[in-house]
Amino acid sequence: MTETSLESRTPAGLPEKIRHYIGGKFVDSLDGDEFDVLDPVTNRPYLRAASGKKTDVDRAVAAAKKAFDHGPWPHMLPRERSRVLHRIADIMESRGDQLAAMECFDTGLPITQAKGQAARAAENFRFFADLIVAQHDDAFKVPGRQVNYVNRKPIGVAGLITPWNTPFMLESWKLAPALATGNTVVLKPAEFTPLSASLWPGIFEEAGLPTDVFTMVHGYGEEGFAGDSLVKHPDVPLISFTGESGTGQLIFANAAPHLKGLSMELGGKSPALVFEDADLDAAIDATIFGVFSLNGERCTAGSRILVQRSVYDEFVERYARQAANVRVGLPSDPATEVGAIVHPEHFEKVMSYVEIGRSEARLVAGGGRPEGFEEGNFVQPTVFADVAPDARIFQEEIFGPVVAITPFDTDEEAVALANNTKYGLAAYIWTNDLRRAHTVAQNVEAGMVWLNSNNVRDLRTPFGGVKASGLGHEGGYRSIDFYTDQQAVHITLGEVHNPVFGKQEPPADSAR
Ligand code: NAD
Repeated sequence: MTETSLESRTPAGLPEKIRHYIGGKFVDSLDGDEFDVLDPVTNRPYLRAASGKKTDVDRAVAAAKKAFDHGPWPHMLPRERSRVLHRIADIMESRGDQLAAMECFDTGLPITQAKGQAARAAENFRFFADLIVAQHDDAFKVPGRQVNYVNRKPIGVAGLITPWNTPFMLESWKLAPALATGNTVVLKPAEFTPLSASLWPGIFEEAGLPTDVFTMVHGYGEEGFAGDSLVKHPDVPLISFTGESGTGQLIFANAAPHLKGLSMELGGKSPALVFEDADLDAAIDATIFGVFSLNGERCTAGSRILVQRSVYDEFVERYARQAANVRVGLPSDPATEVGAIVHPEHFEKVMSYVEIGRSEARLVAGGGRPEGFEEGNFVQPTVFADVAPDARIFQEEIFGPVVAITPFDTDEEAVALANNTKYGLAAYIWTNDLRRAHTVAQNVEAGMVWLNSNNVRDLRTPFGGVKASGLGHEGGYRSIDFYTDQQAVHITLGEVHNPVFGKQEPPADSAR
């Protein structure tokens, strides 16, 4: 293998251990429990991380609640909070290279893509710093009689539970709006990838975020561990969760007794529909990038490609050739396009789907470990053609560099195939026919649709899925709505007409 040693790849500034962050300090678990964090290139443990339990979550929630109930953060002017958020973004930008190096090392993401994610994380803070200042709320007038207005308030301690794919960026996606709106938070990062989260405390302290506005508990999600304890905590009124659909269902049930506010960004098996009139060069480039970038560990990956039969053979042949050229390599190598899968457990899952695919469909590219990578979690970009709609590789989320290609004849069949899974996160449509593009977009069951476009989005747009892909939307003002309560205040102008029973009728035109 072309591997360099674990020691030579280890980024600078690694903490000696990954700990929780409560009361402005890094702390161990109360019971001292820890777990190994693995390097995805060799699967050797490189660090220990504190494993949080209910008692650690209790401690973090109590601190964050005190900061919410008695601290300055919820009462600061939006402009003041905005300044802190901009400072956070400045610091993140100045540490972009360190951040990307840690993310690349811990997750196995190619370094060039980790740098892009670090920049996006800073942009999330900048965006919500600006949005909270521009925020205005509704007022409703009944001329001469009433003014009604909306008083927006932070809710309390927000529980943020995040997955291991692009962990730092996804944490920023929740932290920025939760903090901008004046909440305090407990972050529970994913157990496979806790490294980059250990940078948050330093960034927040330097930016001047008051103590315990941000707290963090590491560890597993299951019952009795950190994630589950956060969901069940009575003093955490809202949970923003990103992860698998099955985990989302469990969290939904566990949060029900407390009637918590829930935002769920869940799994996907998103289709890319390629019609015969599409620009095939652009469609192939975009659909290659759409499933193999971020190691295929992307919630919006276009992992099912549906191609019109008249261009199907040409598409499959060209796609397979290009996929075979996608460069698998060490995550730290700037030339690498696909790095190492995050963890051996997930690697086994992806490889098991490659085996399933061999029995279900026609393998046209990849299908195993790349040559020269005998250890670690490396997978060749893998392409299956002629995949039937009832195949498991068509229906189930693999979350790796594996794609299923299926032919269709008519627009109706394309839409039916696109909608034939339990998921509904994203869809990509490639056609130069305007009417077809918009008709298909409107009939496809997906929270987000890209027309002749790869996966770019403006931060103001709603982000979220339908069906098993999610509940609610975040992004732009939708995030502000999720992290705030909207209290309606009603004022009577002029004379108050009290409808005193038995004495007087209410005025006929009184507004209700
Ligand atoms: P996961 O559901 O296994 O874990 C996500 C987080 O939830 C982790 O921090 C985990 O510790 C925690 N968790 C697990 N069980 C829990 C429980 N019972 N209670 C509370 N917390 C619990 O997901 P994953 O494997 O880390 O991430 C991959 C999944 O995330 C994929 O399905 C992917 O599509 C999805 N994802 C979705 C989006 C989106 O925006 N829709 C974005 C990124 C990833």
